Amino acid sequence: MSGKEAPRSEGLVGVALRPTGKATPSRSRVLNKALVLRTLFHNGPLTRAGLARRTGLTRVSISDLVAGLIEEGLIEELGTLVKGRTGKPGNLVGLDIDRHAIVAIDLSNTETARGRLVNLKGEPLQERSRAIGQVTGEAALTTVQRLVEDLIALAKTPLIGVGIASPGVVTPEGTVEFATDFAWQHLPLAQRLTQATGLPCHAGNDANLRALAEFTFGGASSDGLMVITIERGLGAGILLDGVLLQGRSFAAGEIGHLSAMVGGERCICGRYGCLETVLAKPALQRLGPGAAAPSLTAVGEAAAVVLAPIASALNLTDLVFCDPSELVTPPLLDAIGQAIAARVLPAISADLSIRISPLGGQSALLGATALVLSEELGIT
Ligand SMILES: [Zn+2]
Repeated sequence: MSGKEAPRSEGLVGVALRPTGKATPSRSRVLNKALVLRTLFHNGPLTRAGLARRTGLTRVSISDLVAGLIEEGLIEELGTLVKGRTGKPGNLVGLDIDRHAIVAIDLSNTETARGRLVNLKGEPLQERSRAIGQVTGEAALTTVQRLVEDLIALAKTPLIGVGIASPGVVTPEGTVEFATDFAWQHLPLAQRLTQATGLPCHAGNDANLRALAEFTFGGASSDGLMVITIERGLGAGILLDGVLLQGRSFAAGEIGHLSAMVGGERCICGRYGCLETVLAKPALQRLGPGAAAPSLTAVGEAAAVVLAPIASALNLTDLVFCDPSELVTPPLLDAIGQAIAARVLPAISADLSIRISPLGGQSALLGATALVLSEELGIT
């Protein structure tokens, strides 16, 4: 991946999440600002010399960039670092996480639209929600807009932007190509909310944003990460070789309707035995928390029919489930892991970690936050 792409305004398709390498002069300032912010986001406070070492930028460039970012209120002076015997003490600078806020919205729950005002670290400042189970079309959009406005009204600091984790197929511009539950088709969700609020609004598929959240907030690698969510049906988000995979029609990760077994239960898509019929929320709820080993083995086998070829073809390193732990239990993950291992080369399964997200039930909200951080500030 060359370093030519800007970290914002071009969506995330094919854009390295943490670009390296030289940029053209016109892009370099934007990229270098993003690099400084990203470095402080992940490392915590550093001196200007420390920033120069970690970013590979010159001391002069760092001083200039830091001055600009302090002016913008994105980073702050934090006083003197008292060093050991060697070297001069330096003034620490750090991300000013509370001078700006972000509005994050999660539409992945079937009943409730969740909203949160967060600081630049994704820490919650205020929370609001609105019922969304019974509304579709323009009414659903209006509900989302009202929720965004509720949170904007609560903000005590300037807002960087609004992020929406939406079900369905969503383009990099934030247009929902279709989301069946809301009866949305070709809905320019981000654009409509930008017009309504005057703030930069971004939208993405919730599974894709959950993958982004694992990378930005969960410490996951972007080498070969697949995140699976069973909140609405079953969706997946994939980060491969540092890039979010979206595909030609932005439908990459739509694996819920791949056939997991011959016959099987009838699926909402009209066919039988889809992965959703064995691994999504209703199926796991029927299975119950104390499911017997044979039942778990059967689910694991069916899941592996779909997941093993994907894990092998993409050489995945992390398969992360980000849903209620009472449904996705360690014994279930073991069953899936064993069934995958039986179907792929040992070299593939040895590198594959199957686990539950460390982000708890927050991954969609954190993903919406990560989208704004990425699009507006280049922080990934
Ligand atoms: Zn189906």
